[in-house]
Amino acid sequence: MRYHNITHDDMLNGDGLRTVLWVSGCTHHCEECQNPITWDINGGIPFDEAAESELFKSLDKDYISGITFSGGDPLHPQNREEITRLAKKFKQIHPEKTAWLYTGFIWEDVKDLEIMKYLDVLVDGPYKKELRDPQLHWKGSSNQRVIDVQQSLKDSVVLHKDN
Ligand code: SF4
Repeated sequence: MRYHNITHDDMLNGDGLRTVLWVSGCTHHCEECQNPITWDINGGIPFDEAAESELFKSLDKDYISGITFSGGDPLHPQNREEITRLAKKFKQIHPEKTAWLYTGFIWEDVKDLEIMKYLDVLVDGPYKKELRDPQLHWKGSSNQRVIDVQQSLKDSVVLHKDN
């Protein structure tokens, strides 16, 4: 897997202060995407041991609420295995912290993936510029949903409480 950045103390991509992993690769190609540099699956740099160590060191900090996987698309088929491994490892180390993931896929198409066992919140769907609304919390356009993953696996889609 390749990635572009790890950002620390992020306040915009989920609850609280978070560590965000920005991966390479996205096939959705939404018009007016803010991050087209991340579309190329071969872009960025390799996610190596040093990067993983930086990521988990950041997540150890008491004031960090959890991890957010973003990009690019963490659920690009070529990223799924590695992101699933990272999400599982994160939950084993920090069961009390939360894992969020932003994807251009919709919930109905990815809900059966193994990674859902390890996620708390999924922000789903492509960005649609005609549905853009800067007032929305944690998402760019109104078609996207901020989904409570564990509740939704038991029931139909349940939106995150602050959505
Ligand atoms: S899914 Fe996200 S990263 Fe991919 S093109 Fe759409 S807005 Fe950009």
